[in-house]
Amino acid sequence: MPELPEVEALAHHLREHAVGRRVQRVDVASLSVLKTASPPWTALHGREVTAVARHGKYLDVAAEGLHLVTHLARAGWLRWADTMSATPPKPGKGPLALRVHLGPPGQGPGFDLTEAGTKKGLAVWIVEDPDTIEQIATLGPDALSLTRDEFGAVLTGRTERLKNLLTSQRVLAGIGNAYSDEIMHVARLSPYATPARLPEESIDQLYDAMRTVLTDAVTRSVGQDAARLKGEKRSGLRVHARTGLPCPICADTIREVSFADKAFQYCPTCQTNGKPLADRRLSRLLK
Ligand SMILES: [Zn+2]
Repeated sequence: MPELPEVEALAHHLREHAVGRRVQRVDVASLSVLKTASPPWTALHGREVTAVARHGKYLDVAAEGLHLVTHLARAGWLRWADTMSATPPKPGKGPLALRVHLGPPGQGPGFDLTEAGTKKGLAVWIVEDPDTIEQIATLGPDALSLTRDEFGAVLTGRTERLKNLLTSQRVLAGIGNAYSDEIMHVARLSPYATPARLPEESIDQLYDAMRTVLTDAVTRSVGQDAARLKGEKRSGLRVHARTGLPCPICADTIREVSFADKAFQYCPTCQTNGKPLADRRLSRLLK
């Protein structure tokens, strides 16, 4: 799932290439991605893209009073093309969900919102005010814009497990399963730790790890020109999705805890005093 760094890289690309261009046409290939009916998507036609923002993992393209907001869900992506095909897409065929022409179709640039796989979750809202979208109105502070003091205030007295807290968008916006694994590994903290019981030094480590992991990932993703890739491509992960491989810090074997249709990873030596975490605690940990 694209998280803060990937979405920030996509926003970066659009700020450089889409701002100042006019929406010539929007093609909707999958009606089910549209979560709003009014204003219709045709209301975007003729409007100039004025700004591109990111709210947590949500991307917000502003065009003269309207906002096209998207959440890429598990397997969605935004792909830029310098020349967009003029042929209207066939509904229900392939990964294309929505296409935005930012120049004459067939000659000008634009971007596609695509979604791979059969489990569809990509969502698009067309609104006058992004704060009318409940998921955005309820987001916690952005993980990259928080100061150390604000971060401390967010965690004070929280008794949930760290893994849960870091990935809860209402607590902290932008971090998902992959980067929470990386942040806790860099901070040398257990996914099952509870912030209320952590000393200040651990909160310092966690804050520093969050900044470093996210900032490095944004730099890498911007450097790859994410919007020209077919999908999310991560590099530099140390524990996430590396079950069974050696930890790059201590060479212990990376372990995983799995539940329903996901899993998270950690290094026992670096994070849990060498102790493997029990799966059975998960029903309470991650609902
Ligand atoms: Zn390790």
